Amino acid sequence: MIKVDLHAHSGEDPADGLRYPATALIDGAVELGYAAIAITLHGRVLEDERVFDYARQKGLLLIRGAEWKSDHGDVLLYNVTQRELDRLHSLSDLRAFRRDRGDDLLVIAAHPYFFKHSLHRRLEQNINLFDAVEYCHLHFSWLDLNRRGVQIAERYGKTVVATSDTHNLWMFGRHYTLVDAEPTMPSIFRAIREGNVERHSPHISIWDCLRLLVFDPLMERSPGKTTNSFDGQTIASASAKNSP
Ligand SMILES: [Zn+2]
Repeated sequence: MIKVDLHAHSGEDPADGLRYPATALIDGAVELGYAAIAITLHGRVLEDERVFDYARQKGLLLIRGAEWKSDHGDVLLYNVTQRELDRLHSLSDLRAFRRDRGDDLLVIAAHPYFFKHSLHRRLEQNINLFDAVEYCHLHFSWLDLNRRGVQIAERYGKTVVATSDTHNLWMFGRHYTLVDAEPTMPSIFRAIREGNVERHSPHISIWDCLRLLVFDPLMERSPGKTTNSFDGQTIASASAKNSP
């Protein structure tokens, strides 16, 4: 089994304004024994090849992905390019894209029953679009909004994948999935589709929740700004191009 986290954010995304670059996340992942992670910026694909080279040199598989806002809620897409993402606007577009790309593409329903930007009933209505359902890190012993997603996944034979949706380095490492695969994209995608996974997602404390949702956004972020891994040229210009 290899340790995988398919939902993480880094400073290259002005939407979040996080103060650590992708390379810091990669260093953390290597230290924590991950075999693969995906950096899934909001509506954008991290495409700086130097970041991928950096991960490769450290023996970590960095999967190209994005957290894409569809017309009906957030969807995690893997093995996509920015060009492809720019052409996707709706779940119908995704249906056609899936048909073109086949098993090369992995699609996960992001936190499907959490507040806004979530698919809610559209998950079940479009279940064939998805390979797996995310088990979001944000849950307590007394409240777990993942339950409905797990029920739907079980009903339709979809895999449930635990992720960190990390927006900080202090909690990174607690929520992940063990995948019975080789550390390659095709092998990981296949194992997820076949359900050969084990999810690790402990409840979080109310204090961690407050730190995540209140303290960090107020004190640890600079929305509109990016923190880049190298000199920032490649990523900063891509950010500028894609900003509204
Ligand atoms: Zn996210």
